[in-house]
Order: sequence, then structure tokens, then C-alpha cells
Amino acid sequence: MWGPPGGEKRRILSGMRPTARLHLGNLEGALRLWTELQHEQECFFLIADWHALTTGYQHTDRHRALVREMALDWLAAGLDPKASVIFVQSDVPAHAELALLLSMITPVPWLERSVTYKEWLSEPEVARAAGLGLLGYPVLQAADILLYRATEVPVGKDQSQHIEMTRDIAGRFNHLFGEVFPEPEARHSEHPILPGTDGRKMSATQGNAIYLGDPAGVIERKVSSMFTDPAKVYKGDKGHPERCPVFALHGCYTRARLAEIRDGCSSGALGCVECKTELAGAVVAGLAPFRRRREALAADPGALEDILEDGARKARGVSEETLARVRDAMGLWPRAT
Ligand code: SF4
Repeated sequence: MWGPPGGEKRRILSGMRPTARLHLGNLEGALRLWTELQHEQECFFLIADWHALTTGYQHTDRHRALVREMALDWLAAGLDPKASVIFVQSDVPAHAELALLLSMITPVPWLERSVTYKEWLSEPEVARAAGLGLLGYPVLQAADILLYRATEVPVGKDQSQHIEMTRDIAGRFNHLFGEVFPEPEARHSEHPILPGTDGRKMSATQGNAIYLGDPAGVIERKVSSMFTDPAKVYKGDKGHPERCPVFALHGCYTRARLAEIRDGCSSGALGCVECKTELAGAVVAGLAPFRRRREALAADPGALEDILEDGARKARGVSEETLARVRDAMGLWPRAT
């Protein structure tokens, strides 16, 4: 078994599908952790644009724009191209080749058991259009991770099965052809999974997200419409902050006042209107530095392209080395150089 070459650092791989604008849940649940990890470990972050096609191949008119928007959001959130390798998946063809090779050894029942696959099939529109790419997305995901011999993959607790599948595929490959891949571990974020405006997990597909690019007035409107503890109707009613999505967002944006807000809600001294107004102001203020950085980055599209091209060049170097080992282990015809 071999992992990242030399050094003490472990290697991290993570990514996102560019299917929608990013929201507070993406920022607090993933990007905050990534920006910390990039200074501690060797990090690869991919914009998973091929994965975006598994459920959205009919609607590619905004594909390039969404890739660009995601890159801008990542950089504005603090990902540093000098500290991390940031690239677009389709810019590194080795992902497709390794996915093809891994698809040969991955039993179909493993894929059919995927919780995410079943969830997607429960949506009639997705189920009607489902192709082989949707069933096989865990194989492409395994290729994304294994190409970089990643040792850790930051994921939400609800995504652990994805990493289990990658470990199973790596283990099966190693059993069949000899030790080539390290089996990566899931790294769970200590950062919170944020609720959306309706109290369910914040998600672009649920229509409950507060987006990083929302203007101040939109943020204020969305926060004012958020679900709250149903037991607290009037100011003076005693609330249960732990049941309230507004309080969960206060945990990220008004940390210094969290104890006071909890006590005010529980005692009835704090009303929901006041509580939400304070939260909306804190979210708008908290996003201000992000917005300033994003506007500066957007004003220089050439610099963004250079960052992604440089990231792809570095990613191609590592991934081609892995693929050469894979082809050799499988006894495939040597590729002319
Ligand atoms: S006072 Fe704040 S934390 Fe308490 S229920 Fe109302 S909105 Fe939620």
C-alpha cells in the first residue's frame, strides 16, 4: 500500500458538485473546515462538474457559469491556491479512465444499495431521466479520491456511506491486483450542519437556503420568514432554543451573545421578531468580507482561469502517476509516451 509521497502531511481530497449557488450551509459545513485543513495537510479540492451531469445532463446551459461561480466562492471563502490544489474535474481526464477501470470490478448490487441513489430515484423527475452515470456515480467518486491516494475525505456524517463504498472498491482492487490504493477515512467536520429557513438541512434543492450572494434585503426577508419553536408564539412565551433553526444560525453568527439569546428565549424576555432581526444583521455583516473578496476576484477573470489551469496541471501530474501504477498492476498494455 502506498500513500502520499514522503513528509508528515496526510492528503485530503474533497469537492462539490456545481449545481447551484453556494449557501450558508456550504460555507459553515465545508468551506470553513477546508480553509483550516489547507494549512495543515496537503489538500486537493475539485469542482465536480462531471458529477453535476449525473442528475442534470439535460440542463447544461449554466454549466460553465456555475463552475466559475463555485471557484469564485471557494476563493472568496479563503481557499488559497498557494496552499491547495484547486481544479475542475473534467480538466483532468484521468478521473474518467480510472472510473472506467474501477467500474469493471464494482458489483452492481453495491451501487444499487447506495442511499443517495435511492433518494434520487424517489424524485420522479430524476428517476425518469436516470442514466448509467447516476447509478455509477460512487465509482466516479471513488476514482476522484483514489487518484490522489487521499488518506482523508472531509464529509458530513450523512455522507459516510460514500466513503465506505470507496474503501470497499479500493479493497477489492488491492485484493485482485495487489496493493495500490490506501483506503481513505472519512473526516467528519466539527462545524455544524445548518438548518434552512424551514428547519430541514439547508439545501439548494429544498428551496430553504440563504445564499452567499443574496443581497442584504433578501437575507433579511428569508430570516424573518424562518420557522421557529412552535411553542413560542408571543414575546413572553417561554421558548426552546435548541428546537429553533434561528438559534442554530445564531450559533455561527452571534457566538458572543449566544448565552444571552438562549436565556432570553427560554425566559420569554426575547421575542422572535427581535431575535430574527439581530440574526439577519449578523449574517449580512458576517458575509461582508466574503463579498468584498468575491467582487475583487470577479473583476479579474484571467487570474481565475490561471488558478484553475495551474491546479489542473498539478492534479494531472499526481493522477497520471497513479494511473500508470493502476495500469501496470492490472497488466494492461503499456501506454506509449
Ligand atoms: S426567540 Fe429566537 S431562538 Fe427563541 S424561538 Fe424565537 S427565534 Fe427561536
